Amino acid sequence: MSRPSTKISELRLDHVTREFGGVRALDGLDLTITGGEFVALLGPSGCGKSTALNCLAGLLPLTGGTITLDGRRIDTLQPEQRGFGMVFQNYALFPHMSVRSNIGFGLRMAKVPKADARRRVDEAIRLVQLEEHADKFPGQLSGGQQQRVAIARAIVLEPPLVLMDEPLSNLDAKLRLEMRTEIKRIHQTLGLTTIYVTHDQEEALSLADRLVLLRQGRVQQIGSPEEVYTEPANRFVAGFMGYRNEIELPVSQVNEKTVVLDGLGGGLTGVRRDDLGERVVAAIRPEDFTVGDGPNATEITVEVVEYQGREQAIQGRTGDGVDLHLRADARLAPGDRVTVSVPPERVLVFAAESPAAPEEVA
Ligand code: ATP
Repeated sequence: MSRPSTKISELRLDHVTREFGGVRALDGLDLTITGGEFVALLGPSGCGKSTALNCLAGLLPLTGGTITLDGRRIDTLQPEQRGFGMVFQNYALFPHMSVRSNIGFGLRMAKVPKADARRRVDEAIRLVQLEEHADKFPGQLSGGQQQRVAIARAIVLEPPLVLMDEPLSNLDAKLRLEMRTEIKRIHQTLGLTTIYVTHDQEEALSLADRLVLLRQGRVQQIGSPEEVYTEPANRFVAGFMGYRNEIELPVSQVNEKTVVLDGLGGGLTGVRRDDLGERVVAAIRPEDFTVGDGPNATEITVEVVEYQGREQAIQGRTGDGVDLHLRADARLAPGDRVTVSVPPERVLVFAAESPAAPEEVA
């Protein structure tokens, strides 16, 4: 599959806004996507991800802003005029059509000559590894296989843009991982520009070239997986990216770039990430703690140990009664007293008033 005709150079969203009865579900989204990029829209339920995707697809008119594709304005076009490929979480296959017919549907609509269409359908079937199932009906396939059909149907036309709305959320955990690899492989093979909506940070980090984090319709951060993971722009993004320890402590010293907090052993030094007021929180990922002496050392009593293969997930408590979540290679047991440490650059200090991520994701 190497027809370059539909490849795009640039998709631009300028101040894209969508209101529902005065409430802004999407509030001034600015984003420029380069041809071939895989961009994930990420955020908790209700943050405006699906609204953004539906605005791109043409299923929802904008109430403000513009969308241009290679300099041509497209937000005024009907969905079918945009010709984007769509994959939804519920597959949305035609139940009375075989796998082959489902995948070829768009080509028939586009009146692609039969021989060419057949060749392209065969290629797509091979790409999603459904050769043995080509003549079956959707009802005879597993969820994962049905989603492969939906993906093949979306990519067979090599659309300028592929839009995916939580395509893996109906699959069980093992299949989700398998399909994640599949989606990555297909993207690497075809290089189609893709926008992928998810609330699963791991999925977004593993698939995307760039992540767009949304909260209440507004962008919180746009960056590569590594940027967003190691340098979250605010407390909300940190919570969403797995900075599970959010410890509120009194401030003892504020420097230009660093902050020293009282508590946790002899004091906790971290990086200043906000304009700080009276109350601050230190955000630390469990995996950034080390069991053993080092910077920011403190003693904990191990309370809960979860076996996770090579590592253990530990919950422990300091002498001051602060609960810490960390990961350990060492075999620990409840009641053990150990020293843990964390490098100051991995302790991000935010103002306590900054919005936090919802409980269920932090
Ligand atoms: P989820 O992960 O739960 O699907 P989401 O991030 O995709 O959430 P959206 O579906 O884009 O969120 O919704 C964003 C906001 O807009 C929510 O507050 C939602 O209630 C509101 N909203 C979405 N669609 C409509 C609608 N048709 N009418 C009124 N409000 C809407």
